[in-house]
Amino acid sequence: MQTSSARVRSIPPTVFSEMSALALRTGAVNLGQGFPDVDGPPSVIAEAVRALEGGANQYAPGIGVPSLRQAVARHQQRHYGLEVDPDTEVVVTTGCTEGIAGALLGLVDPGDEVVVLEPYYDSYLAMIQMAGGVRRPVTLRAPDFRLDVDALRAAVTPRTRLVLLNTPHNPTGTVLTRDELQAVADVAIEHDLVVVTDEVYEHLVFDHHEHVPLATLPGMWERTVTLSSVGKSWSFTGWKVGWATGPRELVGAVLAAKQWLTFTSGSPLQPAVAHALDHEPDWPAALAKSLQERRDLLVAGLADAGLTARVPEGTYFATTDISHLGWADGREFCLALPAVAGVVAIPSQAFYDDEEAGRHLVRWAFCKEPDVIREGVRRLAAADLSRR
Ligand code: GLN
Repeated sequence: MQTSSARVRSIPPTVFSEMSALALRTGAVNLGQGFPDVDGPPSVIAEAVRALEGGANQYAPGIGVPSLRQAVARHQQRHYGLEVDPDTEVVVTTGCTEGIAGALLGLVDPGDEVVVLEPYYDSYLAMIQMAGGVRRPVTLRAPDFRLDVDALRAAVTPRTRLVLLNTPHNPTGTVLTRDELQAVADVAIEHDLVVVTDEVYEHLVFDHHEHVPLATLPGMWERTVTLSSVGKSWSFTGWKVGWATGPRELVGAVLAAKQWLTFTSGSPLQPAVAHALDHEPDWPAALAKSLQERRDLLVAGLADAGLTARVPEGTYFATTDISHLGWADGREFCLALPAVAGVVAIPSQAFYDDEEAGRHLVRWAFCKEPDVIREGVRRLAAADLSRR
C-alpha cells in the first residue's frame, strides 16, 4: 500500500519539529526552533478569555472578523502610512504560514517560476512545490548575506510569475535596505511580477536598522502581497493568527485558496489579536530592545565557544560557520550537538538548494530567556566542539 502522496514525500520533513523533538528527548538547551519562552501581554490573553467566555466560538467570517481587519489596517497606517481598506485589502490567516500557502496556491500555476531568497524558510520550499511552481533561488551568501542584485536579475525568466521575499530575513538576520528593496521593485516592475513578502519579523530590528515594507515603494502596492502575524512581534507563536494585506485582486486570490485550506481562522483569538495591535502597540518595540540585548549575549557567548556569528540586524536568529571544526556538515554537527554539548541548533543547509552555500552554516535562536542563553553558551564553551 502506498501510504503517502509523491507531493508530500518529495518534501523533507520540517527541520524545526525534528530538532525540537531532539531537544525534548535529550534534555538539551533548545536554541533551535524560534519561539520565545515567555508569553505576550497578559491583557491580550485576558481578551482571548473574554472572547471564549463571551460566545466567540463559532466560525468567524473567512476573511477575518471586522475588528481584526480594522486593527490591521490601522497598524499599516500607523507604522508605514499605508492606507488599507479593511473590507477588501486584508485577509486573516492561520499564521503567516497559511498566508504563504494561500498566496502560493492562489497565485502560482504549475510550471510558473518563483524567485525566492535562499536560504529560504522551509515552508516556502514546501508550498512552491505543492503549488507546482519551480524554485529559482537567489543566494544570500555568507558571511554578509546581502542581496546580489545581478543574481536576482539573472534568476528572472519569461516564466517567472512571482518573487517570494522575506525581510527581516530568517535565518540570516539580514534586514534588506531601501536600496536592495528598490532593486527588487525595479525588477518586479520591469518584468510585471507579483511579489509576496513575508515581513513577520517587521518589528524585530536592531541598532540603526530600519524595516522598510516593500509595499511602500513607488509602484509596488499594486503588485505586492504583504504577510505578517501576531506570533513573533507579540510573542504568541502558538496562536497562529496572521494576515495578508495588498490590493483587492491579490488578497482575493489568497482568500480564494484560504477558503479551501482552513476555511476560517480561530474566532476567539481574532478579537484578542485586534486588542494587541490597538492597545499594546509598544510591546514589539520593547521586545526588540530586549532581544537586542539577548542577541549580544548569544553572539558574545558563541564567540567564547569559538563560533563567530555575523551580528544579526533583525529577527530571532544568529548564524555561525562551523567548517573549522571538522564536521562534514551542519546537519551532522547539529545531530551530535546534544551529546557533545547539551544544546540544540538548526542546520541552515535545510534552507538551501545550493548545498555548498549552506553546508557549513548553523542557526542559533536568541528569543530565549537570558538565563537559557547563558546556560546554552556556557555548555558550548565547556564542550569540545571539534569533530573527534
Ligand atoms: N519560525 C520559527 C523558526 O524559524 C519556527 C518555525 C516552525 O517551527 N515552523 O524557527
